[in-house]
Amino acid sequence: MKIAVLRESAAGERRVSATPETVKKFIGLGADVAVEAGAGLSASIADEQYAVAGATIADRSSVLKDAGIVLGVQGPDITSLGGAAKGAMIVAGLNPFGERALIDAYAAAGLEALAMEFMPRITRAQSMDILSSQSNLSGYKAVLDAASEYGRAFPMMMTAAGTVSAARVFIMGVGVAGLQAIATARRLGAQVSATDVRAATKEQIESLGAKAIFVEKVAGIEGEGTGGYATEMSAEYKAAQAELVSAHIAKQDIVITTALIPGRPAPRLISDAQIASMKPGSVIVDLAVEQGGNVEGAVAGEIVERHGVKILGHRNVPSRLAADTSALFSRNLFNFLSAFWDKDAGGPVLDEEIGNAIRLTKDGKVVNERLLG
Ligand code: NAD
Repeated sequence: MKIAVLRESAAGERRVSATPETVKKFIGLGADVAVEAGAGLSASIADEQYAVAGATIADRSSVLKDAGIVLGVQGPDITSLGGAAKGAMIVAGLNPFGERALIDAYAAAGLEALAMEFMPRITRAQSMDILSSQSNLSGYKAVLDAASEYGRAFPMMMTAAGTVSAARVFIMGVGVAGLQAIATARRLGAQVSATDVRAATKEQIESLGAKAIFVEKVAGIEGEGTGGYATEMSAEYKAAQAELVSAHIAKQDIVITTALIPGRPAPRLISDAQIASMKPGSVIVDLAVEQGGNVEGAVAGEIVERHGVKILGHRNVPSRLAADTSALFSRNLFNFLSAFWDKDAGGPVLDEEIGNAIRLTKDGKVVNERLLG
Protein backbone atom coordinates (compact mmCIF):
# COMPACT_ATOMS: atom_id res chain seq x y z
CA MET A 1 0.00 0.00 0.00
CA LYS A 2 1.40 3.38 -0.99
CA ILE A 3 0.42 6.38 1.13
CA ALA A 4 0.77 9.86 -0.37
CA VAL A 5 1.26 12.90 1.88
CA LEU A 6 0.41 16.08 -0.01
CA ARG A 7 1.64 19.60 0.45
CA GLU A 8 -1.44 21.64 1.39
CA SER A 9 -2.50 24.11 -1.26
CA ALA A 10 -5.35 26.02 0.42
CA ALA A 11 -4.54 29.66 1.18
CA GLY A 12 -3.23 30.13 4.70
CA GLU A 13 -3.02 26.40 5.47
CA ARG A 14 0.24 25.76 7.32
CA ARG A 15 -0.42 22.29 8.68
CA VAL A 16 0.65 18.94 7.28
CA SER A 17 -1.11 15.58 7.53
CA ALA A 18 1.87 13.40 8.49
CA THR A 19 4.96 13.88 10.62
CA PRO A 20 8.20 11.88 10.64
CA GLU A 21 6.74 10.02 13.65
CA THR A 22 3.62 8.86 11.81
CA VAL A 23 5.57 8.16 8.61
CA LYS A 24 7.74 5.73 10.57
CA LYS A 25 4.66 4.09 12.09
CA PHE A 26 2.97 3.66 8.70
CA ILE A 27 6.13 2.06 7.36
CA GLY A 28 6.03 -0.22 10.42
CA LEU A 29 2.60 -1.40 9.23
CA GLY A 30 4.13 -2.36 5.89
CA ALA A 31 3.13 0.72 3.87
CA ASP A 32 5.30 2.81 1.57
CA VAL A 33 5.07 6.54 2.25
CA ALA A 34 5.75 9.27 -0.30
CA VAL A 35 5.80 12.91 0.84
CA GLU A 36 5.44 15.83 -1.54
CA ALA A 37 8.52 18.05 -1.38
CA GLY A 38 8.08 20.94 1.04
CA ALA A 39 4.92 19.47 2.61
CA GLY A 40 6.08 20.04 6.18
CA LEU A 41 7.99 23.30 5.82
CA SER A 42 5.30 25.60 7.22
CA ALA A 43 4.91 23.26 10.21
CA SER A 44 8.68 23.34 10.81
CA ILE A 45 9.39 19.88 9.36
CA ALA A 46 12.12 19.63 6.71
CA ASP A 47 11.99 17.14 3.83
CA GLU A 48 15.15 15.60 5.23
CA GLN A 49 13.35 14.60 8.44
CA TYR A 50 10.72 12.70 6.45
CA ALA A 51 13.47 11.01 4.44
CA VAL A 52 15.24 9.92 7.62
CA ALA A 53 11.93 8.44 8.79
CA GLY A 54 11.84 6.34 5.63
CA ALA A 55 9.64 8.35 3.24
CA THR A 56 10.35 9.03 -0.41
CA ILE A 57 10.33 12.76 -1.20
CA ALA A 58 9.11 13.73 -4.65
CA ASP A 59 6.92 16.09 -6.66
CA ARG A 60 3.14 15.81 -6.51
CA SER A 61 2.61 13.59 -9.52
CA SER A 62 5.25 11.04 -8.46
CA VAL A 63 3.93 11.05 -4.90
CA LEU A 64 0.40 10.34 -6.13
CA LYS A 65 1.34 7.69 -8.70
CA ASP A 66 -0.46 4.46 -7.70
CA ALA A 67 -1.14 5.73 -4.15
CA GLY A 68 -3.96 3.80 -2.47
CA ILE A 69 -4.30 6.32 0.35
CA VAL A 70 -3.94 10.10 0.00
CA LEU A 71 -3.59 12.07 3.24
CA GLY A 72 -4.43 15.74 3.59
CA VAL A 73 -5.32 18.33 6.19
CA GLN A 74 -7.92 19.81 3.84
CA GLY A 75 -9.41 18.08 0.81
CA PRO A 76 -7.01 18.16 -2.14
CA ASP A 77 -8.06 19.88 -5.33
CA ILE A 78 -9.53 17.31 -7.73
CA THR A 79 -7.50 18.45 -10.73
CA SER A 80 -4.26 17.67 -8.89
CA LEU A 81 -5.17 14.07 -8.02
CA GLY A 82 -4.33 12.35 -11.30
CA GLY A 83 -2.33 9.13 -11.01
CA ALA A 84 -3.73 7.90 -7.70
CA ALA A 85 -4.80 4.24 -7.69
CA LYS A 86 -8.35 3.35 -8.75
CA GLY A 87 -10.71 3.79 -5.80
CA ALA A 88 -7.97 5.42 -3.69
CA MET A 89 -8.94 6.68 -0.23
CA ILE A 90 -8.77 10.43 0.39
CA VAL A 91 -8.38 10.87 4.15
CA ALA A 92 -8.61 14.48 5.32
CA GLY A 93 -10.82 17.16 6.82
CA LEU A 94 -13.13 17.52 3.83
CA ASN A 95 -15.62 20.17 5.01
CA PRO A 96 -18.45 18.08 3.49
CA PHE A 97 -21.22 20.68 3.81
CA GLY A 98 -19.05 23.60 2.69
CA GLU A 99 -17.28 21.87 -0.22
CA ARG A 100 -20.08 19.88 -1.77
CA ALA A 101 -18.85 20.37 -5.35
CA LEU A 102 -15.46 18.92 -4.46
CA ILE A 103 -17.11 15.89 -2.82
CA ASP A 104 -19.17 15.31 -5.98
CA ALA A 105 -15.95 15.51 -7.99
CA TYR A 106 -14.29 12.88 -5.76
CA ALA A 107 -17.31 10.65 -6.38
CA ALA A 108 -17.13 11.18 -10.14
CA ALA A 109 -13.43 10.29 -10.07
CA GLY A 110 -14.24 6.99 -8.32
CA LEU A 111 -12.33 7.95 -5.17
CA GLU A 112 -13.32 6.87 -1.65
CA ALA A 113 -13.45 10.15 0.26
CA LEU A 114 -13.30 9.81 4.06
CA ALA A 115 -14.19 12.95 6.04
CA MET A 116 -12.36 12.88 9.34
CA GLU A 117 -14.66 15.52 10.86
CA PHE A 118 -17.55 13.05 10.61
CA MET A 119 -15.78 10.67 13.02
CA PRO A 120 -18.43 9.52 15.50
CA ARG A 121 -17.98 10.73 19.06
CA ILE A 122 -17.57 7.33 20.65
CA THR A 123 -14.95 6.30 23.15
CA ARG A 124 -12.86 4.17 20.79
CA ALA A 125 -12.69 6.97 18.22
CA GLN A 126 -11.48 9.68 20.61
CA SER A 127 -7.87 9.30 19.49
CA MET A 128 -9.01 9.72 15.85
CA ASP A 129 -11.02 12.89 16.42
CA ILE A 130 -9.54 15.82 14.48
CA LEU A 131 -12.23 18.23 15.70
CA SER A 132 -11.18 17.71 19.30
CA SER A 133 -7.45 17.80 18.73
CA GLN A 134 -7.60 20.97 16.65
CA SER A 135 -10.26 22.74 18.77
CA ASN A 136 -8.24 22.20 21.88
CA LEU A 137 -5.31 24.22 20.54
CA SER A 138 -7.67 26.79 18.97
CA GLY A 139 -9.16 27.47 22.39
CA TYR A 140 -5.68 28.02 23.79
CA LYS A 141 -4.60 30.26 20.92
CA ALA A 142 -7.80 32.34 21.09
CA VAL A 143 -6.86 33.43 24.60
CA LEU A 144 -3.30 34.31 23.57
CA ASP A 145 -4.61 36.25 20.56
CA ALA A 146 -6.97 38.16 22.82
CA ALA A 147 -4.22 38.84 25.35
CA SER A 148 -1.89 40.21 22.70
CA GLU A 149 -4.54 42.60 21.32
CA TYR A 150 -5.65 43.71 24.78
CA GLY A 151 -3.91 46.85 25.98
CA ARG A 152 -3.94 45.67 29.59
CA ALA A 153 -2.66 42.76 31.63
CA PHE A 154 -4.57 39.57 32.48
CA PRO A 155 -3.46 38.89 36.06
CA MET A 156 -3.94 41.13 39.05
CA MET A 157 -0.60 42.67 39.95
CA MET A 158 0.31 44.56 43.08
CA THR A 159 3.19 46.87 42.30
CA ALA A 160 4.91 49.75 44.09
CA ALA A 161 3.16 52.06 41.63
CA GLY A 162 -0.26 50.65 42.40
CA THR A 163 -2.49 47.72 41.56
CA VAL A 164 -3.34 46.38 38.11
CA SER A 165 -6.72 44.68 38.20
CA ALA A 166 -7.38 41.23 36.72
CA ALA A 167 -9.03 40.98 33.31
CA ARG A 168 -12.56 39.59 33.17
CA VAL A 169 -12.85 36.92 30.53
CA PHE A 170 -16.17 35.41 29.38
CA ILE A 171 -16.21 32.20 27.32
CA MET A 172 -19.36 31.46 25.31
CA GLY A 173 -19.66 27.85 24.20
CA VAL A 174 -17.91 25.33 26.41
CA GLY A 175 -17.03 22.42 24.13
CA VAL A 176 -13.46 21.34 23.62
CA ALA A 177 -12.20 24.80 22.56
CA GLY A 178 -14.12 26.60 25.30
CA LEU A 179 -12.82 24.35 28.06
CA GLN A 180 -9.24 24.92 26.93
CA ALA A 181 -9.91 28.66 26.71
CA ILE A 182 -11.17 28.67 30.29
CA ALA A 183 -8.10 26.78 31.49
CA THR A 184 -5.71 29.04 29.57
CA ALA A 185 -7.33 32.29 30.73
CA ARG A 186 -7.25 31.00 34.31
CA ARG A 187 -3.54 30.17 33.98
CA LEU A 188 -2.93 33.74 32.84
CA GLY A 189 -4.64 34.99 35.98
CA ALA A 190 -7.92 36.30 34.57
CA GLN A 191 -11.30 36.17 36.31
CA VAL A 192 -13.20 33.75 34.11
CA SER A 193 -16.88 33.06 33.54
CA ALA A 194 -18.51 30.86 30.90
CA THR A 195 -21.83 29.80 29.44
CA ASP A 196 -23.29 27.06 27.25
CA VAL A 197 -26.69 25.66 26.30
CA ARG A 198 -25.79 22.18 27.52
CA ALA A 199 -26.46 21.81 31.24
CA ALA A 200 -23.69 19.20 31.50
CA THR A 201 -21.07 21.91 31.02
CA LYS A 202 -21.97 23.73 34.23
CA GLU A 203 -20.02 21.33 36.39
CA GLN A 204 -17.09 21.34 33.95
CA ILE A 205 -16.90 25.14 34.09
CA GLU A 206 -16.95 25.14 37.88
CA SER A 207 -14.37 22.39 38.13
CA LEU A 208 -11.97 24.60 36.16
CA GLY A 209 -12.46 27.38 38.71
CA ALA A 210 -14.65 29.60 36.50
CA LYS A 211 -18.11 31.00 37.15
CA ALA A 212 -21.01 29.38 35.28
CA ILE A 213 -23.51 31.85 33.75
CA PHE A 214 -26.67 29.97 32.74
CA VAL A 215 -30.15 30.73 31.50
CA GLU A 216 -32.56 29.73 34.28
CA LYS A 217 -36.25 28.82 33.95
CA VAL A 218 -36.08 28.09 30.21
CA ALA A 219 -35.03 24.58 29.18
CA GLY A 220 -31.61 24.26 27.57
CA ILE A 221 -30.12 20.92 26.59
CA GLU A 222 -30.25 18.69 29.64
CA GLY A 223 -28.51 15.61 28.31
CA GLU A 224 -25.57 15.59 25.96
CA GLY A 225 -27.60 15.82 22.71
CA THR A 226 -26.57 13.64 19.75
CA GLY A 227 -22.91 12.77 20.18
CA GLY A 228 -22.53 15.65 22.65
CA TYR A 229 -23.45 18.30 20.10
CA ALA A 230 -25.83 21.22 20.54
CA THR A 231 -28.91 21.87 18.38
CA GLU A 232 -30.71 25.08 17.45
CA MET A 233 -32.40 26.56 20.54
CA SER A 234 -36.02 27.75 20.85
CA ALA A 235 -36.92 31.40 20.30
CA GLU A 236 -37.80 31.66 23.99
CA TYR A 237 -34.39 30.33 24.99
CA LYS A 238 -32.62 32.70 22.60
CA ALA A 239 -34.44 35.69 24.08
CA ALA A 240 -33.58 34.64 27.66
CA GLN A 241 -29.97 34.06 26.65
CA ALA A 242 -29.72 37.49 24.98
CA GLU A 243 -31.04 39.17 28.13
CA LEU A 244 -28.61 37.27 30.36
CA VAL A 245 -25.67 38.01 28.10
CA SER A 246 -26.55 41.71 27.86
CA ALA A 247 -26.35 42.08 31.62
CA HIS A 248 -23.07 40.16 31.86
CA ILE A 249 -21.15 41.29 28.80
CA ALA A 250 -21.01 44.98 29.68
CA LYS A 251 -18.73 44.08 32.59
CA GLN A 252 -16.33 41.93 30.56
CA ASP A 253 -12.93 42.85 29.12
CA ILE A 254 -12.49 39.81 26.89
CA VAL A 255 -15.14 37.60 25.30
CA ILE A 256 -14.29 34.40 23.42
CA THR A 257 -17.07 32.74 21.47
CA THR A 258 -16.83 29.12 20.27
CA ALA A 259 -20.47 28.09 19.76
CA LEU A 260 -21.18 25.74 16.87
CA ILE A 261 -24.12 23.62 15.70
CA PRO A 262 -23.01 20.84 13.31
CA GLY A 263 -24.25 21.29 9.75
CA ARG A 264 -25.83 24.70 10.45
CA PRO A 265 -24.60 28.26 10.59
CA ALA A 266 -23.09 29.22 13.95
CA PRO A 267 -25.66 30.70 16.38
CA ARG A 268 -25.57 34.50 16.75
CA LEU A 269 -24.71 35.22 20.39
CA ILE A 270 -23.56 38.84 20.48
CA SER A 271 -25.32 41.78 18.85
CA ASP A 272 -23.88 45.13 17.86
CA ALA A 273 -25.84 46.79 20.70
CA GLN A 274 -24.19 44.43 23.18
CA ILE A 275 -20.76 45.26 21.78
CA ALA A 276 -21.57 48.94 22.24
CA SER A 277 -22.20 48.27 25.94
CA MET A 278 -18.64 47.01 26.47
CA LYS A 279 -15.77 49.21 27.63
CA PRO A 280 -13.49 50.67 24.93
CA GLY A 281 -10.35 48.55 24.64
CA SER A 282 -12.25 45.29 25.21
CA VAL A 283 -11.50 42.39 22.86
CA ILE A 284 -13.81 39.76 21.36
CA VAL A 285 -12.50 36.64 19.64
CA ASP A 286 -14.99 34.87 17.36
CA LEU A 287 -13.73 31.33 16.83
CA ALA A 288 -16.90 30.51 14.86
CA VAL A 289 -16.30 33.28 12.32
CA GLU A 290 -15.74 30.87 9.42
CA GLN A 291 -19.04 29.08 10.15
CA GLY A 292 -21.01 32.33 9.97
CA GLY A 293 -19.86 33.87 13.23
CA ASN A 294 -21.25 34.19 16.76
CA VAL A 295 -20.61 37.94 16.81
CA GLU A 296 -22.36 40.61 14.75
CA GLY A 297 -19.83 42.48 12.63
CA ALA A 298 -17.04 39.88 12.89
CA VAL A 299 -15.21 39.45 9.58
CA ALA A 300 -13.32 36.28 8.67
CA GLY A 301 -9.62 36.97 8.31
CA GLU A 302 -9.81 40.43 9.84
CA ILE A 303 -9.55 42.36 13.08
CA VAL A 304 -12.30 44.97 13.05
CA GLU A 305 -13.10 47.66 15.58
CA ARG A 306 -16.69 48.49 16.61
CA HIS A 307 -17.52 50.99 19.36
CA GLY A 308 -13.87 50.86 20.50
CA VAL A 309 -13.99 47.06 20.83
CA LYS A 310 -11.67 44.88 18.74
CA ILE A 311 -13.30 41.84 17.15
CA LEU A 312 -10.81 39.17 16.08
CA GLY A 313 -11.90 36.91 13.24
CA HIS A 314 -8.78 34.93 12.47
CA ARG A 315 -9.27 32.23 9.89
CA ASN A 316 -7.96 28.71 10.43
CA VAL A 317 -6.81 29.23 14.00
CA PRO A 318 -5.31 25.70 14.27
CA SER A 319 -2.94 26.69 11.48
CA ARG A 320 -1.55 29.44 13.73
CA LEU A 321 0.06 26.69 15.84
CA ALA A 322 0.96 24.50 12.89
CA ALA A 323 3.72 22.41 14.45
CA ASP A 324 1.61 21.19 17.36
CA THR A 325 -1.69 20.92 15.51
CA SER A 326 0.01 18.98 12.69
CA ALA A 327 1.49 16.54 15.19
CA LEU A 328 -1.94 15.88 16.72
CA PHE A 329 -3.77 15.81 13.38
CA SER A 330 -1.22 13.35 11.97
CA ARG A 331 -1.64 11.07 14.98
CA ASN A 332 -5.42 11.20 14.56
CA LEU A 333 -4.98 9.96 10.97
CA PHE A 334 -2.53 7.27 11.99
CA ASN A 335 -4.67 6.10 14.93
CA PHE A 336 -7.64 5.80 12.56
CA LEU A 337 -5.88 3.96 9.72
CA SER A 338 -3.84 1.67 11.96
CA ALA A 339 -6.92 0.64 14.01
CA PHE A 340 -8.39 -0.83 10.83
CA TRP A 341 -5.18 -2.04 9.19
CA ASP A 342 -5.59 -5.53 7.86
CA LYS A 343 -2.27 -7.28 7.24
CA ASP A 344 -3.73 -9.65 4.64
CA ALA A 345 -5.52 -6.90 2.73
CA GLY A 346 -2.39 -4.73 3.04
CA GLY A 347 -4.47 -1.69 4.01
CA PRO A 348 -7.37 -0.49 6.12
CA VAL A 349 -10.69 -2.36 6.13
CA LEU A 350 -13.27 -0.16 7.84
CA ASP A 351 -16.12 -1.40 10.00
CA GLU A 352 -19.71 -0.20 9.60
CA GLU A 353 -19.98 2.11 12.58
CA ILE A 354 -17.00 4.28 11.70
CA GLY A 355 -16.81 3.53 7.97
CA ASN A 356 -20.41 4.50 7.26
CA ALA A 357 -20.12 7.62 9.40
CA ILE A 358 -17.12 9.08 7.61
CA ARG A 359 -17.34 7.64 4.08
CA LEU A 360 -18.67 10.31 1.70
CA THR A 361 -18.12 8.69 -1.67
CA LYS A 362 -17.48 5.23 -3.09
CA ASP A 363 -17.75 3.51 -6.47
CA GLY A 364 -18.69 6.70 -8.26
CA LYS A 365 -21.45 7.80 -5.88
CA VAL A 366 -22.02 10.04 -2.87
CA VAL A 367 -22.98 7.51 -0.16
CA ASN A 368 -23.11 9.43 3.12
CA GLU A 369 -26.52 9.76 4.80
CA ARG A 370 -25.78 13.24 6.10
CA LEU A 371 -25.13 14.45 2.56
CA LEU A 372 -27.99 12.54 0.97
CA GLY A 373 -30.65 13.25 3.59
P1 NAD B 1 -18.88 22.32 19.17
O1 NAD B 1 -17.57 22.77 18.63
O2 NAD B 1 -19.84 21.67 18.25
O3 NAD B 1 -19.62 23.54 19.88
C1 NAD B 1 -18.95 24.29 20.86
C2 NAD B 1 -19.87 24.54 22.03
O4 NAD B 1 -20.85 25.53 21.71
C3 NAD B 1 -20.65 23.31 22.52
O5 NAD B 1 -20.36 23.09 23.87
C4 NAD B 1 -22.10 23.71 22.30
O6 NAD B 1 -22.97 23.16 23.28
C5 NAD B 1 -22.02 25.21 22.41
N1 NAD B 1 -23.17 25.94 21.86
C6 NAD B 1 -23.91 25.68 20.75
N2 NAD B 1 -24.88 26.57 20.60
C7 NAD B 1 -24.78 27.45 21.63
C8 NAD B 1 -25.50 28.61 22.02
N3 NAD B 1 -26.54 29.04 21.31
N4 NAD B 1 -25.11 29.28 23.14
C9 NAD B 1 -24.05 28.83 23.86
N5 NAD B 1 -23.32 27.75 23.54
C10 NAD B 1 -23.68 27.07 22.43
O7 NAD B 1 -18.64 21.34 20.41
P2 NAD B 1 -17.38 20.40 20.70
O8 NAD B 1 -16.25 21.17 21.20
O9 NAD B 1 -17.15 19.59 19.50
O10 NAD B 1 -17.90 19.48 21.90
C11 NAD B 1 -19.24 19.09 22.08
C12 NAD B 1 -19.29 17.94 23.10
O11 NAD B 1 -18.79 16.73 22.52
C13 NAD B 1 -18.50 18.15 24.36
O12 NAD B 1 -19.29 17.73 25.46
C14 NAD B 1 -17.33 17.22 24.23
O13 NAD B 1 -16.83 16.79 25.48
C15 NAD B 1 -17.94 16.09 23.46
N6 NAD B 1 -16.92 15.31 22.76
C16 NAD B 1 -16.94 13.94 22.81
C17 NAD B 1 -15.97 13.22 22.13
C18 NAD B 1 -15.94 11.71 22.16
O14 NAD B 1 -16.59 11.11 22.99
N7 NAD B 1 -15.20 11.07 21.25
C19 NAD B 1 -15.01 13.87 21.38
C20 NAD B 1 -15.04 15.27 21.34
C21 NAD B 1 -16.00 15.97 22.03
